[in-house]
Amino acid sequence: MKPRIAIFSLTSCEGCSLAILELEDQLLALLGGVEIVNFREGMTERAWDIDVGFVDGAVSTPQDEEEIRKLREHCRTLVAIGACACLGGVNTLKHQQPPLEYREYVYGAGAKWFPTTSARPLSAVVKVDYELPGCPMVKEEFLHFVKCALTGKQFRLPADPVCTECKKLGNLCRYEKGELCMGPLTRAGCRAICPAYGSVCEGCRGLLGADAVAAAREVFPARYGVPFDRIADRLRLYGAYQDDGENAISGVLQPSR
Ligand code: SF4
Ligand code: SF4
Ligand code: SF4
Repeated sequence: MKPRIAIFSLTSCEGCSLAILELEDQLLALLGGVEIVNFREGMTERAWDIDVGFVDGAVSTPQDEEEIRKLREHCRTLVAIGACACLGGVNTLKHQQPPLEYREYVYGAGAKWFPTTSARPLSAVVKVDYELPGCPMVKEEFLHFVKCALTGKQFRLPADPVCTECKKLGNLCRYEKGELCMGPLTRAGCRAICPAYGSVCEGCRGLLGADAVAAAREVFPARYGVPFDRIADRLRLYGAYQDDGENAISGVLQPSR
């Protein structure tokens, strides 16, 4: 019997789910090895006996919280896909305003009909088995994950910074142009696509960890004259939740004492 997989969305643009549909021919090839049993973006049937459930979006409303607990019960393996699901992502930007203010900005007089909570990654609410980060997630990484799952191979995210891939491509470093790039602190795996196309890395694949942040505290000010606070501000675009006091790497983005 083929493994039964499902794709779900919480609060998000659903771009990571759409990235799966964009696989086109590769998705058709994949369908030879798995059975998709629940995918609102791509089919009308619904089934709840699920081997691997992929979820994009952050937990950002009471309904999201209820939904992710239900999905956890129905999925033998639960995989967070994309920055929203892995980090909270851009949804966490709302924490920079009082809740009533951002709700009224979005919903106007109807704000009271749309309850909200703080935005959190899935792992803040339920056990998550794997994470495929990025905004959107990297399609090739998704395919690699599914192949590993089908063949019983262990799946691991890269443990290097984006700079490693960027240097291999021979890109001009954005720091040489006086720009602020999050590549040294961010997990590789996207083939440094932003610097490769002339932009800076914004850190959508998440922080490499407390060691990388500690190194950045020393290197950025000394080598580039950039105060670490400016780096921390930029990292909050996707990673504000990582700055949360209850998080595993709590405090890494706080100003040094
Ligand atoms: S990670 Fe990015 S592309 Fe994926 S759902 Fe969130 S905002 Fe959309
Ligand atoms: S452009 Fe960014 S990712 Fe590339 S080497 Fe420089 S700091 Fe690293
Ligand atoms: S270069 Fe940085 S911002 Fe761009 S996709 Fe990679 S991790 Fe995300």
